[in-house]
Amino acid sequence: MSTHYTRGSFQLMKSMNRSIILNMIREHGPISRADIAKQSRLTPPTVSNIVKELIQTQFVIETTQGQSKGGRKPTLLEINADHFYIIGVDVGTFHMNFVVTNLYGELKDVAKKDIPSYPSKEDILDTMKSGIREFFTSGKCDPEKFLGIGIGMHGIVDPIEGVSRFAPSFQLYDIPIKAELENEFDMIVKVENDAKAMTLGEYWFGNGNDADNMVGVNVGNGIGAGMMIKGQLFHGENNIAGEIGHITIDLSGPKCTCGNYGCLQTLAAGPAIAERARKELKTGKPSMIRDLVDHDFEKVDGKLVYEAACEGDEFSIELLNQTGRFLGIGLTNLIHTLNPKRIIIGGGVSKAGDFLMDGIKETIHSRGLTSKAKETHIVLSKLEEHASAIGACVLILEEFFSR
Ligand SMILES: [Zn+2]
Repeated sequence: MSTHYTRGSFQLMKSMNRSIILNMIREHGPISRADIAKQSRLTPPTVSNIVKELIQTQFVIETTQGQSKGGRKPTLLEINADHFYIIGVDVGTFHMNFVVTNLYGELKDVAKKDIPSYPSKEDILDTMKSGIREFFTSGKCDPEKFLGIGIGMHGIVDPIEGVSRFAPSFQLYDIPIKAELENEFDMIVKVENDAKAMTLGEYWFGNGNDADNMVGVNVGNGIGAGMMIKGQLFHGENNIAGEIGHITIDLSGPKCTCGNYGCLQTLAAGPAIAERARKELKTGKPSMIRDLVDHDFEKVDGKLVYEAACEGDEFSIELLNQTGRFLGIGLTNLIHTLNPKRIIIGGGVSKAGDFLMDGIKETIHSRGLTSKAKETHIVLSKLEEHASAIGACVLILEEFFSR
C-alpha cells in the first residue's frame, strides 16, 4: 500500500499559518473564511490561499449549512473528517481492543483480539500486527486513507522512543513497538501508556474538554492515571508519573504484585474486588453470588459482583461501595497533590459506576482539605470501553494538528 501521501500530509502541516487555520476549522467549524481571518488576524488573501490549498489536498471541505440572513447561504468550511482514518489499539491484560476513527474521533470500525497467556514480545507484536492488518484488508475503510497508528499500552511506556519499558501483566521489558510497527506498516506510530491515552481521548472527545487540569483514572486489572496539566500530559522524569495503583492505602493490606502491601490496586482493581468477594463469602455472608457460581467461589469475578449488585444483592452493593471508598482515598491523595478541576473514571471497573460513585464522593467529601477540594468534579468516562483506543488515535491527531 502507498502511504507516501499521508507522510506528506504531516510535512504539509508544518507551516504555522496552515496549522492555525486548520485548527480553527477543527475547533470552530463550520466557519466562514471571513471569521477565520477575523479570529486569526491573518489577512483575507492569506486565509483564502491557504484554504484553497487545504481544499485541494482534501483536508477541508466547503459546506453551506450556515445561517443565511436573507440572500444566499454563506459558504462555510469544515474538516473533511472522513477523508482520513486513524487506527488505535488498547493493549490490556487479556486482550487488545482495536478501533478505527476519523479525524473527529468517531468510530468507523472496531475489533478485539485475545492475547496468548504468558506472551513473548513477539506474541504481543504479532497480535498487534494481525489486528491492524485486518483493517487494511477488511474492505470497510480505504487503505489509502490511513494516517497513522496509536498504541495505548499498560505499564511504563517511553513515548519518545515508542517502547513499552515494562508491561507488568506480561512481565515483559523493552518491547520496541514503534520501530516494529513503523517498519511493518510504513506509517507514523505513536505509543503511550493506556491511562494517559484514555485521558487524552477524554480531553479531546469525551468528558474532559474544558478542563486543562484534570486526571483520568483507568480502573481495570490494575489502576493507572493520566495527569493533564495545563492541557499537556505529565510524564515525570522517567514516565512513571500516574502509577497511582501503587500508592499505599493500607499498610497492613494485601500484598501487591509490586511487592508492597496495601497498594490501591490491591483494594480497588477488578481482581481485588473478586478476591475480597471470595474471602467474605467464605466467612458465610449471605449473597446471591453463592448460587450464581454454584458455590464454586473460584468462579467469582468483578463482573459477576457487578451483575449481582444490579440485581439488588446487598452483599455486592456494599462490596462495590467499599471499593468506591478505597478509590475515594486514592483520589483524595490525587486532589491534594494536583488539585485538578475534574477526575474522570474509566476502565472495566468503572462499569459499576453508580455503585462506586457514592463511595468515592462520600470519601472525598469527608477527607477533602477545603470546600473546593471536596467539590472536585468526579465523572465517569464518556468514551467508555473504547476510551484508551480512541485516545491512542488522538496521539496521531495531536501530531497532525500540532501547532
Ligand atoms: Zn503495588
